[in-house]
Amino acid sequence: MDVIVIGGGIAGIATAYQLRANGHRVCVVERHATVAQGATYGHGGSVLPSPLDVWFGPTFMQTRRAAKTGILFKPGFNSDTREFAKQLAQLQDPERFTGQYAALRPLVEMSRDVMTDIDSRYALDYEQRTGVLHVFRHERDLELAQSAIALLQRYETPHRMLTPGECVAAEPSIPDDPPLAGGVLLGDARTANCPLFTKLLKQLLEDGGVQFQLGREVTAIRADAQRAAVELGPRAGEVDGKGRKSRDVELIGADAIVVAAGTGTPALLATLGIRLPLHPLRLHTLTAPIAYEERAPHITVVDSVKRITMTRINQRMRVTGGAVLESVAKAHKPMTESMTRRALALLGQATHDWIPGAAKVSAARAWDGIRLVSPDGLPVVSPTAHARLFINAAHGPAGWGIACGAAKVVAAMVSGITPEVPSETVSALRMDRF
Ligand SMILES: Cc1cc2nc3c(=O)[nH]c(=O)nc-3n(C[C@H](O)[C@H](O)[C@H](O)COP(=O)(O)OP(=O)(O)OC[C@H]3O[C@@H](n4cnc5c(N)ncnc54)[C@H](O)[C@@H]3O)c2cc1C
Repeated sequence: MDVIVIGGGIAGIATAYQLRANGHRVCVVERHATVAQGATYGHGGSVLPSPLDVWFGPTFMQTRRAAKTGILFKPGFNSDTREFAKQLAQLQDPERFTGQYAALRPLVEMSRDVMTDIDSRYALDYEQRTGVLHVFRHERDLELAQSAIALLQRYETPHRMLTPGECVAAEPSIPDDPPLAGGVLLGDARTANCPLFTKLLKQLLEDGGVQFQLGREVTAIRADAQRAAVELGPRAGEVDGKGRKSRDVELIGADAIVVAAGTGTPALLATLGIRLPLHPLRLHTLTAPIAYEERAPHITVVDSVKRITMTRINQRMRVTGGAVLESVAKAHKPMTESMTRRALALLGQATHDWIPGAAKVSAARAWDGIRLVSPDGLPVVSPTAHARLFINAAHGPAGWGIACGAAKVVAAMVSGITPEVPSETVSALRMDRF
């Protein structure tokens, strides 16, 4: 079949990889001049989410104070955003959290297998490192995380509970003063460079015959029983016969279309009247040179409750978090300076608290990007009412490894093959669950 994938982030590129592996002719359309320029660019390094990393669960949205939770919650008068936060907060309940993670777990395992397979085939170097230490400042935080820790035991995820002293011994860049309550060491958990991985995969796809339409924006999708097509807007700088900005629209047809367009997904689906309750969440990163080599962590340190990840990537520290949850309308506008300052201050503070002296924060480069999150924390990997249209989106802030497994599921759906995950997981990922 001819399949068009909309989006050149990790979700789109991984989808193209799986579709190609299933023998389809694939074309990826990306509005930027190259791939990995959206949320994929800003990754914090973690490859696969453990129960401690998923964007729902016991420590999420406990209180609205950013200093405690690491989340700037600014819904204003927007009732949709309040309702969205309320729904996610319901997954703090240990039973609901456990059920939801159980649905996600097979996708995490598939994602791990897909990445292992890619690693063994191509031996790509995308700055992989091993070892993630979740740290907890207060006893109460550690108690809150118990249902997530119980899941590590239940799924036999290799981990060690560490006393404060053992945390400092495992990662000497963590100071023992102020005191901490303890930590969880995930010795096998990996971090890596997501945009680099995406670009390397894109190169493999190009060599394998996948077409790329870069610098092209899909302005609408058309789908009927016979065929599907995307409308492409004019290329940047394209002019008509009179030298004016071109308004020409090009149509490319295909047997199937996969929308993997990150935050662009809702607008594209809306052209077909499809609406999903996905909400944008803005995340920040600081990338700073290592200040003092002897103080730089050799494993990734995560402030587990604030969800701030501090990852060493070669000679740089990447600090990620500072989530901002505001209304959909506001999320798509540039943030105010004071909000940006507050979000970045959370990252600076975490760096100061957990790895003082490791990063030269004054020389850091700041970046922010938006991720789509669903009200039940799971991605949307789904067929639609249009037989030729599929979705692979909303993997959330812990989504890049997941995107690789989700790609295999969606490629199976496109190919008419039963996905290799339990039917409960397939149902939990479908768009009609909302
Ligand atoms: C700051 C930050 C830190 C993160 N840290 C982590 C982490 O540590 N671990 C983790 O697992 N995940 C992390 N995530 C989440 C992870 O990066 C995302 O889940 C993942 O990158 C999603 O990839 P995507 O392909 O769905 O989206 P994107 O990377 O946003 O890709 C979507 C692409 O579609 C293109 N597009 C959209 N609309 C159109 C259109 N109409 N026509 C053509 N092209 C279009 C966009 O230009 C974009 O390139 C983080 C996210 C952010 C923002």
